[in-house]
Amino acid sequence: MAGVSKFVRSVETASDWAKIEAMKKLADLISTNGAGEIIEHLHALVALVKNDGEFISWNRSFGAYKKLSPAAERLEDIFYEKDRQYVQWKLSAASTEHWMAELFPAEDDPPLVCDCALLPGPDGHLLFVAEKVDSNAELQNLVRRLNRQVKMFHRESEAAKKIARNKQIEMESVMIQSREVAQIDPLTFLLNRRTIVRELQNEVLRAERYKSALSISVMDIDHFKNVNDTYGHVAGDEVLRQVGYILRDHIRQPDVAGRYGGEEFLLLLPSSDAGAAAEQASRLCRQISEAAPLVQGHVINVTVSMGIAQFHPGVDTWDTLLNRADNAMYEAKRAGRNRWVVAD
Ligand code: GH3
Ligand code: MG
Ligand code: MG
Repeated sequence: MAGVSKFVRSVETASDWAKIEAMKKLADLISTNGAGEIIEHLHALVALVKNDGEFISWNRSFGAYKKLSPAAERLEDIFYEKDRQYVQWKLSAASTEHWMAELFPAEDDPPLVCDCALLPGPDGHLLFVAEKVDSNAELQNLVRRLNRQVKMFHRESEAAKKIARNKQIEMESVMIQSREVAQIDPLTFLLNRRTIVRELQNEVLRAERYKSALSISVMDIDHFKNVNDTYGHVAGDEVLRQVGYILRDHIRQPDVAGRYGGEEFLLLLPSSDAGAAAEQASRLCRQISEAAPLVQGHVINVTVSMGIAQFHPGVDTWDTLLNRADNAMYEAKRAGRNRWVVAD
C-alpha cells in the first residue's frame, strides 16, 4: 500500500483482538452512557472525529499534544505526510484494526510513537484512540537483548578458545609421537638404524671431547635364514621381536640399543671399557640362547654372535669403531658362533 510507513502494521495476535474488543465495549459504554468524564481522564489520547476526519472534540491528553499542531483540523493533520493517505483509507474503511504510527510531527521533538485505533463512536462518529508506546521501555528491552547476545558471544568465544587450546595440546602430543615414531623401529621398538647411528656419532664426539670411555657391541643372530626357511617370515619377525625385548630388558642406562640391520643390533655403552662390554655380551649371549621363545607353537632357539670394540681416542672415528666391532663379530661367527670377541 502506497504511503504506508514502517510503523503501520496489521493486527497480528489474539491479545490485539482482545484489546479491540475491549475498546469497542468502551465505545459502546460511551455512546450509551455519555461517559465523557472517563475519556477525559484517560492517559490515552482520544479524539472524536467525523467520518471524514474532522475533529469534533478531544480529551485532555490529546489536547496536550494537539498544541504542537495548532493548525490541525482533521485527523490526518496530526500524522506525518507519509502516513496521511493510510489514515484517510482507515477513515473510509471504518477498519477497527489498530496500527502503529508517529503522531504530531515536530522539527525538534522526537516523534510520538502511538498504537492507534479508530472505533465506532457516538452518533455515527468515530473515536480515535492513540496509546503512547513507551519507547524508553522498548529501548531498555533492546539493550537487555543486546547484552544477552554479548554475554552469549563471550561465552561462545571462551569455549572456542578452550577448543583451540585443546587442539594445540593434541597437535603437540601428535608431533611428539610422530618424532618418536620416526626414531623407533616398528618391529622391535628399539631405536632404528638412523637414530642409533646418530647416537653413535654423538657418543664418539663426547668420548673424544671428555676423554671418557666408550665401547660398542655389534650383535647378529646366528643362522637366522634357517629360522625363516623353517618356520616362515612371520615367525622370523616374532623371533626378532623377542630378541629385541631381551635387549631392552637387560641393558641399563646410559646404554642404548638399536636395530642396525635385518637381524643385526648395535649397542652403545658410554663410560664402559671393553671389559664391561664383554661382561654384558656374555650375559646377553646366555640369556638369548636360553630364552627359547614359543612362536606359533614352536620353541625356536636362537643364538647370537657379538663383536665388541672400545673407542680409541685420537684414532677412531665412529665408522672405524663400528668396522672394528663388525669385524670382531665376524670373527665370533668364524669361531663357531654363540660367542663374543673383543676387537684389538
Ligand atoms: P649368520 O649366522 O651367518 O648370520 O647367518 P644368517 O642366516 O643369520 O645370515 P644371513 O645374512 O645369510 O641371513 C640373514 C637373514 O635374515 C636373511 C633375511 O631374510 C633375514 N632377515 C633380515 N631382516 C629380516 C626381518 O625383518 N624379518 C625376518 N623374518 N627376516 C629377516
Ligand atoms: Mg646379518
Ligand atoms: Mg645372521
